[in-house]
Amino acid sequence: MRIPAIYKEKKPVFSLEIFPPKRKTNRESLYEAVEQLAKCEPDFISVTYGAGGNIADNSTCEIASNIKKNYGIETVAHLTCVNSTREDVQEMIARFQDADIENVMALRGDIVPGEDIKREFKHANELAIEIQRKCNDQLEILGACYPEGHYQSESLDSDIQNLKYKIGAGVRVLITQLFFDNTAFYEFLDLARSAGITVPISAGIMPIVKATQIEKTVQLSGASLPHDFTAMISRYEHDPERLYEAGIDYAVGQIRDLIDHGVDGIHLYTMNDPNVALRVHDEIADLLPKRRSEACFE
Ligand code: FAD
Repeated sequence: MRIPAIYKEKKPVFSLEIFPPKRKTNRESLYEAVEQLAKCEPDFISVTYGAGGNIADNSTCEIASNIKKNYGIETVAHLTCVNSTREDVQEMIARFQDADIENVMALRGDIVPGEDIKREFKHANELAIEIQRKCNDQLEILGACYPEGHYQSESLDSDIQNLKYKIGAGVRVLITQLFFDNTAFYEFLDLARSAGITVPISAGIMPIVKATQIEKTVQLSGASLPHDFTAMISRYEHDPERLYEAGIDYAVGQIRDLIDHGVDGIHLYTMNDPNVALRVHDEIADLLPKRRSEACFE
């Protein structure tokens, strides 16, 4: 199924993000995690693409295709372009199509200072144009956005203006970078809508349940940290069990507030941990549109 059609049918759409394990030998444990994640009945699962953009690595394509085939869950395959040639990108698009993947998240990818990059594609909108050119509307395109501005943009306003290039290039759904301050998301949404961006925007939420995530994820994301969040971290950073519970509560609080405000979708960054995703899902299930299994009994 094409992802924009899901947003036309449901509000909020509930989706999950996973990443391919570094070693192929860990694939089985990923599929075990997906089996658990399937209990959340996500509207789709998106599968990230390796930061280096290595064409020899076909994990994203294989995993996205297997989830769709074996679990009947719609998928989105991520694709980055900044370190790929046009030929690489065309090859990957052909692989997606051969694997019956219908949805792609078109991304630039991060630029590591000093790293030699290919430079055939400078921005995600150029990748979206290439996908459209190659597939003639046979792949739906999603894109990334940043409630607090992308770290390389001069201002939030200029980032939103640049976002319009993606929409012009065929991106029909946006998913945000993780954030911890809903106010920042609401302000971004107002600015994006006033700038004429009308596509559905899903809010990216990552429950922080381990002290190791604080430095790695929180600081790298550049997300601002509201007082309630920093208070939670300083209170529990040395108490793993309580941090786990408090991190889930924080994410659930954020999501319930977002749904109250009529958000188009919630995209949960699962970090491949089904237990966290299931806990969060159970705490928000009453606010989600009826799932397939419940609807059957009516
Ligand atoms: P772009 O849209 O190209 O934007 C990058 C910067 O360029 C911004 O500052 C923007 O304002 C500016 N800009 C955009 N278009 C133009 C233009 N036409 N002219 C001038 N300036 C422009 N990374 C991975 O490696 N693999 C993944 O699977 C992955 N998945 C992600 C999923 C989500 C939901 C998000 C939010 C991020 C993901 N990332 C992933 C990270 C992403 O690759 C980085 O954030 C990257 O730095 C920017 O990617 P982008 O597609 O948003 O880039």
